[in-house]
Amino acid sequence: MTLLGPEELSQQVLDKGLCTLCGACANLCPYIKAHNNKIITLFTCDRTQGRCYAHCPKVGIPLKNISQSYKAQSYTENPIGKFIKIVKAKKGRNASEGNFQNSGVVSSLIIFAMEKELIDAALLTGTQGIKPVPVLARDKDSVLECAGSKYIASPVLSMMAEISDSGVEKLGVVGTPCQITALSQMRQNPLELDDFKDHTTLSIGLFCTWALDSEKFIQYLSKRTDISSIQSMDIPPPPAEELIVKLENSVKKFPLQEIRKFKLPGCEICADMTSELSDISVGALEGFDGWNTLIIRSKKGERLVNEAVEQNYIEIGSLPDRCFDNLLKGAGNKKKQAAQKCRELGMLDDDFNKPASLNGRQTITGIA
Ligand SMILES: Cc1cc2nc3c(=O)[nH]c(=O)nc-3n(C[C@H](O)[C@H](O)[C@H](O)COP(=O)(O)OP(=O)(O)OC[C@H]3O[C@@H](n4cnc5c(N)ncnc54)[C@H](O)[C@@H]3O)c2cc1C
Ligand code: SF4
Ligand code: SF4
Repeated sequence: MTLLGPEELSQQVLDKGLCTLCGACANLCPYIKAHNNKIITLFTCDRTQGRCYAHCPKVGIPLKNISQSYKAQSYTENPIGKFIKIVKAKKGRNASEGNFQNSGVVSSLIIFAMEKELIDAALLTGTQGIKPVPVLARDKDSVLECAGSKYIASPVLSMMAEISDSGVEKLGVVGTPCQITALSQMRQNPLELDDFKDHTTLSIGLFCTWALDSEKFIQYLSKRTDISSIQSMDIPPPPAEELIVKLENSVKKFPLQEIRKFKLPGCEICADMTSELSDISVGALEGFDGWNTLIIRSKKGERLVNEAVEQNYIEIGSLPDRCFDNLLKGAGNKKKQAAQKCRELGMLDDDFNKPASLNGRQTITGIA
């Protein structure tokens, strides 16, 4: 991958509307900021190489190198990436109650990791009104306040610069696949800076098919409901095809085909559905309300899950074959659609169709 600078980040990503707001380019310098759920460039400096470009998951990220340095294994052709074990899971009887999205596996594992001192804080996504915002959670209550999915994209990693000065030595990060990809790239110290320190000790990736543009989606909702009384949102697995919005005293449903109009264009070139570079990935479990799908990818993730099971913070069971097959199919389709979109945008290189080729160059978008 050729490391370039802020001008190329603007040309290749921001000006083309392909940014999905992971936040990894923001707050590294005085000129690129996350503001009101958008990335703002106040000034394009003339550096020929910058961390802003190097971290961005929408330019060529060397997945093969990252996979090898984190997992001592190659990026594979499996549509859900390399994993040690895949199970169904739900919060256990010793875990706290909360307004979880599915069964609270993410929040329960983060709280357990804090209590075991594997992490001393976690970078999560909370809300300000209806807008998602990055939150550095240092205790159980703050983790529980962040429970639930916010379908609007949020610049979570824009807080990393602040966190590295905050005294947090062992950080947990929860994010969508593009955020986990950017985080993994950050952790490579791509510019080989002498003062770089990797504070992340645990990454939990969410499954994700798309996130929404905040301005357009909020405009749509505010014409149809009182957004100040929104409590939570859910997109149940297929065949539901609806967005369910829980208000203070009622529930409203919106057809997904209308909501999809507000998805970020950059999501269409995203080839990762299950956060392939995380320690642990978590998503919904189709057909089993109150359960999550849990993918254990690293030894560290495996240890954490085993201990959390022993101490009844989570409960696990075997994943039904039908769910596994559907997951593979969904993740494979996402890769194919991303490749198709890249082709349309003229971004495809020969390796994209085989992002897992062991000797080929691998990138998430095909730009190298
Ligand atoms: C934008 C988006 C799209 C998703 N799409 C799918 C999908 O297609 N299929 C699927 O199976 N699952 C999807 N999920 C994941 C799913 O909604 C649940 O997050 C997951 O199953 C974990 O459930 P839980 O009960 O364990 O989570 P909880 O214990 O409730 O914890 C949820 C965690 O999600 C984090 N979070 C919330 N919103 C965001 C955000 N915008 N960006 C980053 N982190 C966030 C919070 O920090 C919190 O820690 C999506 C999530 C998001 C945020
Ligand atoms: S995708 Fe992330 S790194 Fe790339 S421009 Fe957007 S916020 Fe910055
Ligand atoms: S679909 Fe991909 S690019 Fe879009 S928010 Fe999800 S992980 Fe990010």
